[in-house]
Amino acid sequence: MSWTNYHSHTYYSDGKFEPEVYVQQAIAIGIKAYGFSCHSPFNGGHGWNMALDQLGKYCEEILVLKDKYKSKIQLYLGMEVDYIPNIIGPKSAHILQSKLDYTIGSIHYTGTFSDGRFCEIDGSHQFFLEGLNKIYGGNIKFMIKTYYQLMREMLENETPTILGHMDKIKIQNEGGHLFGEDELWYQNEVEKTLDLVKSKGVIIEVNTRGIYKGITKEPYPSRVILEQIKAKGISIMLNSDAHIPSEIDKGFRETTELLQGIGFQKLMALDNGKWKSFGFNENGLIF
Ligand SMILES: [Zn+2]
Ligand SMILES: [Zn+2]
Repeated sequence: MSWTNYHSHTYYSDGKFEPEVYVQQAIAIGIKAYGFSCHSPFNGGHGWNMALDQLGKYCEEILVLKDKYKSKIQLYLGMEVDYIPNIIGPKSAHILQSKLDYTIGSIHYTGTFSDGRFCEIDGSHQFFLEGLNKIYGGNIKFMIKTYYQLMREMLENETPTILGHMDKIKIQNEGGHLFGEDELWYQNEVEKTLDLVKSKGVIIEVNTRGIYKGITKEPYPSRVILEQIKAKGISIMLNSDAHIPSEIDKGFRETTELLQGIGFQKLMALDNGKWKSFGFNENGLIF
C-alpha cells in the first residue's frame, strides 16, 4: 500500500529544489511512483514557466534519476503543459520531441492583453481583475466560458494524458463574489467539458494543493463536479501539485475520504510504464 504523485515541480520551473531532493523525500515516505511535471517552456511564458533553454537538461536529469533510483522508486518524466492556441499545447513540437511519459494539460492563461501579455488565472487577484476588465469588459461569465472553451479546445485538438486542476479558476472567486458554482450556465460549461474528457479517455486529476495551501475548502475539482465525474464513469487520479518536498503527499488522506464518500473505488496510476486502476483507502493505493 502506498501513494503515488505525478504532479510536481522543481527549480526548473517554480518549485524550490533540484529534482533529486524530491526523489529522496518520496523514497523516505514510501511513495511508490513519482512523476515530475515542470511547467512547459514557451516563448513569452511567465516567470514560473521553465526557460526554453533548460528543456533538454530537465529531461536528461530526470532520466538519469530514473535509472539511478530504479530499485527504490518508479520515476516518470512528465510536464504540466499550458494551452494557448497556436503558441503552446501538449502537441507542440518541442513537447512531443521531449518523449514524455505523460502530459498534464492545464489552463493557466485565459486571454491576451492588447500589449501581448497573457492573463493568468492563478496569479494575484488584482492581475486577474485587470484581465477581467480589460479583456472581457468586466463580464465574468464571458471569461469563465472562455476558460472552459479553451480547455475543450485543448482536449479536442491536443489531447493531454491528464486534465490538470480542472476548476482552478474558482480561486479567484472567494466567497462566491464573482459567480456561483451552482448557476446553470456554469454547470453547463462543466458538463460539456466532462463529456469531452470522457470521449477522449483523459484522466482527471484530483489536485489537493488548494486545500493544503488553505486557499480552497475542496480539492480541484469541487465535490459537485466529482459527483458528475463519478456518474459519467470518468477515471481519476490523486495528485498534490508539490512545489516543496513536504508537499508530496499533502491532503491525500482527507481527500481519499471525500472520494470514498462519493463512491469512487479506483485511482489511476502509472505503474511499470502502463496506466492501471488501483483500489485505495486513506493510507494509499493498493498495489
Ligand atoms: Zn497548474
Ligand atoms: Zn502544477
